Amino acid sequence: MSERFTGVGVSAGRVIGPVRRMPEPITAPADGAPLPAGVSAEEESARLAEATQAVAAGLKERAAAATGDAAAVLKATALMASDRTLLKSATKLVATGTCAESAIWEAADAVATQLAALGGYMAERATDVLDVRARIVAQLRGVPAPGIPDSDEPFVLCAVDLAPADTATLDPARVLALVTSDGGPQSHTAIIARSLGLPAIVAARGTVALADGDVVFVDGIDGTVVRGPGSAESALAEAYASRVPLPEFDGTGRLADGHRVPLLANVGSGADAVEAAAAGAQGVGLLRTEFCFLSRDTEPTREEQVEAYRAVFDAFGGAKVVVRTLDAGADKPLPFLTDDSEPNPALGVRGYRTDAAVPGVLARQLAAIAEAADGSTAEVWTMAPMISTPAEAAAFAGMCAEAGLKTPGVMVEVPSAALMARQLASEVDFASIGTNDLTQYTMAADRQLGALAELNDPWQPAVLHLVKATCDGGAAVQGDPRPVGVCGEAAADPALAVVLVGLGVATLSMNRRALPAVAAILKTVDLPGAQRIAGLALGAGSADEARGAVRAELPELDVFGL
Ligand code: PEP
Ligand code: MG
Repeated sequence: MSERFTGVGVSAGRVIGPVRRMPEPITAPADGAPLPAGVSAEEESARLAEATQAVAAGLKERAAAATGDAAAVLKATALMASDRTLLKSATKLVATGTCAESAIWEAADAVATQLAALGGYMAERATDVLDVRARIVAQLRGVPAPGIPDSDEPFVLCAVDLAPADTATLDPARVLALVTSDGGPQSHTAIIARSLGLPAIVAARGTVALADGDVVFVDGIDGTVVRGPGSAESALAEAYASRVPLPEFDGTGRLADGHRVPLLANVGSGADAVEAAAAGAQGVGLLRTEFCFLSRDTEPTREEQVEAYRAVFDAFGGAKVVVRTLDAGADKPLPFLTDDSEPNPALGVRGYRTDAAVPGVLARQLAAIAEAADGSTAEVWTMAPMISTPAEAAAFAGMCAEAGLKTPGVMVEVPSAALMARQLASEVDFASIGTNDLTQYTMAADRQLGALAELNDPWQPAVLHLVKATCDGGAAVQGDPRPVGVCGEAAADPALAVVLVGLGVATLSMNRRALPAVAAILKTVDLPGAQRIAGLALGAGSADEARGAVRAELPELDVFGL
């Protein structure tokens, strides 16, 4: 008998495979727990040394089999596991009568605290120590190690949610699909799945019941998981496997009638930008500058900033690069800008609002962007996140002018900005809609909460009405219509991309891996067709109805398995 679970499909694809569950996080042992009855300190020390060696050996073996970033992460963790100082201080604690688990826990805590106090690169290593500690305790307890499970056969990874650290070692050749019971369409799991091109479903409540070895069908298009799939599911998976491969993106986004829709990339570093340029992106529509400095406790220096931004500009000489100023707060805290004691961080001092709370950082960032732009051939545009009023837009444009930046813009992420789009846009040169935040604020649904994933869907007609209001506002600026782009995850959904263009969006910015799919589907409609399809979405009563009505008009989605 098959069993069906429903969630939100966030990355297309249909596969069948065995489940491997993400292990439960390792819980802390009791503080200073004594040696187990009848076990001597020598025996306990030997057990600890053995566990440590086993962890180091396992990590080394995995590092040898991995490549790229994953190999580097595993090698660094293996080194940390073989570190003699950690074992020595834990052994000392065992000698005073503490059990191995508590001893390694306490010893690693002390090392991590020392590293964190050193700041910079050393502080980042504190997480590695805590990771190694969890692995050693898992080994001592005889339970699976934390992190992505190891398996000889490809598997469907099931988890409650995935943290950025978990996904660093995720090997797309081993993982067939991702299924989480929590997390929303804008969660880290969703973003990483799209960037790796893996089918994924989030907020699939009930999938916590799936166990290792269960065979499941995962439909990232419909958002369903079936335990014990039958012939219908096998046929769907086979049809997906034999889909027509997507043509490579040729570097020009356009509709069937030749109407141009530049397809840009979202990047967070120079390395991302190089990859995006190689994938044919026509520029950068969103440089998330906070991603360059996420692990920092202190404001990056001007030199560090100039170097980070220049690396992106260099990858896109002659093309447009939209730099977003630091978007700190809520899910992206930066200790030098944000107050972590706010009761509602998503509604708090975040994005552009931090300029009032911590004056100076934004002006210094704009100066660094201007210095990096100077001498570069990239066409640098600069925008601020979380703008809520025309006055804020005007103030930001003033700051850009002072820094010598020619093309200021704003992100439209808050309903007030969408509703006041004409006044807002007339203060600046362009607007870019952040559909991830616009959706969370329109629907009053935290983008990180899996329980609200159905509300947190950019196909919600209310969100689409605000996208239209923003485009209409930009077009209504007297004498000089302002272009409106989209740089939220919505732009990476090929069916939604058609709707956005039909609503009046001029450019779409997305993860580079989404470029071929979006380009291929845009080419199948002309502008009047896209406008008609957008009308269907606007007229729908729910996100599902909008998605269904639009997908029915775009048969090539099935041809390409999107
Ligand atoms: C958005 O909100 O859509 C956006 C692009 O910004 P971020 O996801 O970084 O908040
Ligand atoms: Mg945002």
